[in-house]
Amino acid sequence: MEENMEEKMQEVKKEYKCKYCGEVFEKPLLLAHHVRLSHKKLKKKEKKGIAVGKLAENIRKNVEAVGILKGLQVSPSLSEAEKEVLDDVAKRIEGLLTHIQKGK
Ligand SMILES: [Zn+2]
Repeated sequence: MEENMEEKMQEVKKEYKCKYCGEVFEKPLLLAHHVRLSHKKLKKKEKKGIAVGKLAENIRKNVEAVGILKGLQVSPSLSEAEKEVLDDVAKRIEGLLTHIQKGK
């Protein structure tokens, strides 16, 4: 009989454990409140971090692209008109990159 009582006590003491940090709450509402306060913002920050990482990656790739374009410009097989087009494209990308990097 005593064992049964203990089991019942444990049932009553049902815990709501936070899946992010393991903190235990008595009521699901308290847990939801805690998650909203402590973890939702963090998630947004994480997402922002990923976005910034992607932007940095994009910038790096574009810098590479400018390098490739500049390499192509000196290719002897290109006509003057083609070289001008490459120069124009490279300058446009460079201008955009400078603009983006200043905005950081
Ligand atoms: Zn938590």
